[in-house]
Amino acid sequence: MVRTGNEYLESIRDNRNIYIGGNRVDDVTTHPAFKGITETIANLYDIAADENNNMIYKTEDGTLANKIYMIPKNREDLRDRREAIKTWSDTTYGFVGRSPDHVASFFAGFASSPEVFERGLPKLKDNAANFYKFARDNDLYLSYVIIPPQIDRGKASHEQEEKFLATGVYEEREDGIVIRGSQMLGTGAAVSNYLFVSCITPLRPGDEDYAVSFVVPMDAVGLKLYPRPSYAADKPSIFDYPLSTRFDESDALVVFDDVFIPWEHVFIYKDIDLVRAQFHETPAHKLGNSQAQTRFTSKLKFVIGLAKKITAANGIDKIPAVQEKLGELASLAATAEGLLLASEYECTIDKNGTAVPNPRFLYGAMGLQNELYPKVISIFRELVGGGVLQVPSSFEELVNPETRDDMQRYIRSATVRSEEKVQLFKLAWDVIGSEFGGRHQQYEMFYAGAPFVAKGFSYRNYRYEEAEALAAKCLNGYSIPKDCLV
Ligand SMILES: Cc1cc2nc3c(=O)[nH]c(=O)nc-3n(C[C@H](O)[C@H](O)[C@H](O)COP(=O)(O)OP(=O)(O)OC[C@H]3O[C@@H](n4cnc5c(N)ncnc54)[C@H](O)[C@@H]3O)c2cc1C
Repeated sequence: MVRTGNEYLESIRDNRNIYIGGNRVDDVTTHPAFKGITETIANLYDIAADENNNMIYKTEDGTLANKIYMIPKNREDLRDRREAIKTWSDTTYGFVGRSPDHVASFFAGFASSPEVFERGLPKLKDNAANFYKFARDNDLYLSYVIIPPQIDRGKASHEQEEKFLATGVYEEREDGIVIRGSQMLGTGAAVSNYLFVSCITPLRPGDEDYAVSFVVPMDAVGLKLYPRPSYAADKPSIFDYPLSTRFDESDALVVFDDVFIPWEHVFIYKDIDLVRAQFHETPAHKLGNSQAQTRFTSKLKFVIGLAKKITAANGIDKIPAVQEKLGELASLAATAEGLLLASEYECTIDKNGTAVPNPRFLYGAMGLQNELYPKVISIFRELVGGGVLQVPSSFEELVNPETRDDMQRYIRSATVRSEEKVQLFKLAWDVIGSEFGGRHQQYEMFYAGAPFVAKGFSYRNYRYEEAEALAAKCLNGYSIPKDCLV
């Protein structure tokens, strides 16, 4: 089944516990902090449900599903899946990081590798694959929290000041487990259906109580979300903040106040090695991050398109020095896109017959991201100049008869009218200067872990043998001239 937008909206009208601005949210689909993003996600579901958009595929079980859940079997499948993901990311211009395709990709990776989960408790071994099918067949929106709260990063979870600061098993029961503690950072969680909870940072001996993996419905009793301030709620209009108002997916601290999880929703129980293996011995992390790089590629193209339009509007696009800056932007974007395409072209087929993006190129792109995105934004900032602040406070000044003439006379350029110029520069500000824009810099630097973590993936997956063999070949090709040896 592929859901429509309305079916999605209906599915998130429940008893979830979200606290923002000191109050509990009644209905996320109407609350000003979440209305914009829920409408955006609903639109994504409508796009997927429309057969003309080529986002539906036939599953291994013969059912029809959204391609975001596809387990790719060859390079063509990877391309097909990427194009479906791109259809969504082009719709949000790459500004919704945890749209439903992100965690769906992780679950496709889990389900493709049953042997990994067979290493755990026998009664749990099929749970991840079963839940994958349930999510796929109901076209669910999954979000995740897989990082312990930032309290004392110098200590393991079990060494923190209190036992249940990080999310852990408080009690084991006949029918399931009781979870207590907190986890970061639930992007999109407030508007999703289920939350996947585990730990991707290395766990240490003694951390067994925190070595779990499970899913929980967003309206579970005792599950609480504390989102950061909304960037959408106080904005006057879409025209004034076109990205903040529609794409603020929200990030939240997630608290488990003794939440009961039935065994069927538990995938891994008190197993440190398996918690790591679920991400890295299945294709989950690679499929999830190829989704992320596809989205990132859309975003870079969008920023470059905007830069090109702004330089043309300001009449500077023919200046060689400006073209050099646009060229630098083009090189940066092409590098990210090229690495994504290379990871697909050089994919490998694993022992289960799943096509896995090549990690050298995939993690190569991910490792660059914390420098690449700030650099793109810095060049873009330089190109737009002060024009982003030479705009009226809202679209009202463009329509108010008292101010309209001034707007038309003084805010314009050789090629665009006043209204277009204001529209263009307000959009640019939402990329570089609004709170939403600032959050996006943080997002691109941290969503896949801190920069040193992302570069660590690149280090571990480059395959230095090939590089070292080349260096060795060169070194072995010459030596101190024999007649000089004594
Ligand atoms: C906007 C945003 C959205 C996010 N969404 C999600 C989400 O949906 N789900 C989810 O699970 N997580 C999410 N995250 C959390 C993200 O995964 C974490 O921010 C990330 O794992 C880094 O952890 P941290 O923020 O605690 O940084 P820390 O681990 O505290 O690191 C901060 C800095 O400390 C230094 N440092 C710390 N440890 C070391 C070390 N061992 N070696 C060298 N330097 C070190 C580095 O300079 C590092 O950059 C999101 C984060 C952001 C910013």
